[in-house]
Amino acid sequence: MANILNNYDLSHNNTMALSCTARHAMMLDDIDTLGDNITTAIAFAKRHDLPLFVLSYGSNVILPSVLNALVLLPKIQGIEILQEDDECVTLQVACGENWHNFIKTCLDKGYFGLENLALIPGLVGACPVQNIGAYGVQVSDFITKVIAYDLTDGQKCEFGNTACQFEYRHSFFKDNARRYLISHVVFTLHKQPKTLTNYGDLASLAQEFANKNGRATPHPIDVFHAVIDIRNSKLPNPAVLANCGSFFQNPIIPMSEFIALKEQFADLPSYPINDDVIKIPAGWLIDKAGLKGKGVTPILTHDKQALVLTNHAPHTATQDDIRTAQEFIVRTVQDKFGVTLVREPVWVD
Ligand SMILES: Cc1cc2nc3c(=O)[nH]c(=O)nc-3n(C[C@H](O)[C@H](O)[C@H](O)COP(=O)(O)OP(=O)(O)OC[C@H]3O[C@@H](n4cnc5c(N)ncnc54)[C@H](O)[C@@H]3O)c2cc1C
Repeated sequence: MANILNNYDLSHNNTMALSCTARHAMMLDDIDTLGDNITTAIAFAKRHDLPLFVLSYGSNVILPSVLNALVLLPKIQGIEILQEDDECVTLQVACGENWHNFIKTCLDKGYFGLENLALIPGLVGACPVQNIGAYGVQVSDFITKVIAYDLTDGQKCEFGNTACQFEYRHSFFKDNARRYLISHVVFTLHKQPKTLTNYGDLASLAQEFANKNGRATPHPIDVFHAVIDIRNSKLPNPAVLANCGSFFQNPIIPMSEFIALKEQFADLPSYPINDDVIKIPAGWLIDKAGLKGKGVTPILTHDKQALVLTNHAPHTATQDDIRTAQEFIVRTVQDKFGVTLVREPVWVD
C-alpha cells in the first residue's frame, strides 16, 4: 500500500519552478495496487476534508505556494499491444510513461502519427486533458479510449473518443480536472508511414532531413527530427529556463473582428477555422504590444517566443507573481488590440 506523505515539496515537480508544498502526497507506481490505493486516498481525503489533485510532470500547471490537497502522483509504466494488422496498431499506454519517449518507442517499432507532437513535455496520462497539439496534429486524432478512475467513488470507467469531448486544447477531463485519474490511454496508430507537414516551415525542414537520410520524400522519422529542431530553436528548455510552454491560447475571433483588425495591422497572421471564425497567434499580439522579453519581474515573456512566460526566480517565485505578470500582459494586449487573451495552463487553487 502506498504511503501518504506530509508537507511534500513540489517546487521540483512543476516546470514553471514555482515554490509549492502539498499538504499530502501519494505516489502511484504499481498497477496491481492502483485501485486499492485510490480507494485509500479517497477515504483519507474525505476524513480530512481535503480535495484530491492529480499531478503528472507539472508542465501545464500553475501551482499555489501551499496546495491544500492530497496530491496523487501517477508513475505507472507499461505499453501493451491490444490489436494489430497491416494498417494499424492499437496500444494501451500507462499514464506514467514519458510522452516524448513513448513517441520515440513508436517510431522505433514502425507506428506512426504522433511524430508532430515530439518534445512536448509531460506524461501520457495528461495528454488527453488539454488535447495536446502541435504542428497541425492533435492527440485526439489518435486516441480511441481513455481509462480512468472516478475520484468520487473509486470506480474504474472508460471513455470513447466522442465521450472525451475533445476540442482545441480542451476536453471533458479539463472541465472535470479534479474528478478523474486517467490510468491508461489507448491509441490507434498507422503502420504505413504517412506524414503531415503542412504547418509553417515543417515541410522544408523535414525534406532536409529526408535528403540527409537518402530519402526522396520525408518519412515520419524525418518529421520527428524536424519538429525537435524547430522546437529547440524556438522554445526555452524548462530544465534551463523555467516555463510551462504557451501561456495563452491562440484567440479564435469572429471574421468581422479580424477584418477590422487587419485594416489596422496589415501584417496580422491568421489561420482560418471556417467562414465565421479565424485563429490569430497570441504570441504575435504580445510581441506587437511591445512585450517580448518583458513582463513583471521575475516573470518575463521569452525573448524568442513571447507566448512563453519564463520564471527568473526558480523555486522562489510564486503563483502571485504569475498572476501579476498575466494581468499586465492581458491588459496591455486588450488595450492595443481589443482581444482578450485566455490562459492555457491549469490554475490550481
Ligand atoms: C516547453 C513546453 C512546451 C509545451 N508545448 C506544448 C505544445 O506544443 N502543445 C501542447 O498542447 N502543450 C504543450 N505544453 C503543455 C504541456 O506539456 C502539456 O499540456 C502536457 O500534456 C502536460 O503534461 P503533464 O504530465 O506535465 O501534466 P501536468 O502539468 O502535471 O497536469 C496538467 C493537468 O492535467 C491533469 N492531469 C495530469 N495527469 C493526469 C492524469 N493521469 N489523470 C487525470 N488528470 C491528469 C492535472 O490535474 C492538470 O490539471 C508545453 C509545455 C512546456 C513546458
